[in-house]
Amino acid sequence: MMKSEEVMRILENAIRIGKGVIRYGSVASYIPELAKADKNKLGICLYTIDGNQFETGNTEDRFTIQSISKVMALCLALETFGAEFVFDYVGVEPSGEAFNSLVELDNRSNRPFNPMINSGAITVASLLVNHYSIEDMQKYMQDVCEDPEIAVDEAVFQSEMATCARNKAIAYLLKSKEIIDTDVEDSVTFYTKMCSMSVNARDLAMFGLLLANDGVQLSTGKRLISSQTVRMVQTIMLTCGMYDGSGEFALRTGIPTKSGVGGGLLSVSKKKMGIGIYGPSLDKKGNCIAGCELLGYISEALHLHIFDTR
Ligand code: GLU
Repeated sequence: MMKSEEVMRILENAIRIGKGVIRYGSVASYIPELAKADKNKLGICLYTIDGNQFETGNTEDRFTIQSISKVMALCLALETFGAEFVFDYVGVEPSGEAFNSLVELDNRSNRPFNPMINSGAITVASLLVNHYSIEDMQKYMQDVCEDPEIAVDEAVFQSEMATCARNKAIAYLLKSKEIIDTDVEDSVTFYTKMCSMSVNARDLAMFGLLLANDGVQLSTGKRLISSQTVRMVQTIMLTCGMYDGSGEFALRTGIPTKSGVGGGLLSVSKKKMGIGIYGPSLDKKGNCIAGCELLGYISEALHLHIFDTR
């Protein structure tokens, strides 16, 4: 590993690079409450496997986790029901469509393409809702992020529930195809609540570190997630984690990453570090515009591309 000063210098450069593109993006507004975010915020936190923390910018600001919760929900579902069962309900192929699309679900498949898009995540939520309360999901998120403060942001939750006709449409389509058998309203409520959990960049970095360390919590040595689940989840993050921009992002940075429309990015660099980013200005595909730009730089500078041979 490099010297601390060198890593900090890279992070400061990264923030500068990220800030340079913030103006080309915009905050999500289809959930009215999210439109209140300050688009100029940007923060990055790194937790390394050798026990160091590096951070700069707005790493303590809280924001809603949104789609990044799909990774935690998938972990919990895989651990509870097993891969064979879960992947019977939801596939593992990139959809090439927007995160909230239902065209491919209706036309090209009889199950959601993957668990990182809304149709797949609502399906996973419908499996979980039979076994877990939203408080259980909250506790799971608190544990894997090592942050007991994680809780539902009621304002964002209410705002999304009042405007989630499309997610309900997806859920009813899933129900009509008998992919979900739980109550549609219960599944959408569970899904929306898990998306409304408020986190900060540090929480995401901590969860990233857990995945980077093969599911073993660094501070206690306790295994929280099985190796098998960690491997599957990272694979799906790499291929499907950045909406319909996943291929391009993978090519450029080679870091398994999941984004959320609240502005968060969760990245995992195996056996090296977890990275959490907050920046609510989004590109056209719904990914944190500054985060994508700066991760490209960090990946080069710290040799984090999964296929980097240096
Ligand atoms: N709760 C959001 C939705 O369902 C999550 C979207 C996202 O972060 O991609 O639209």
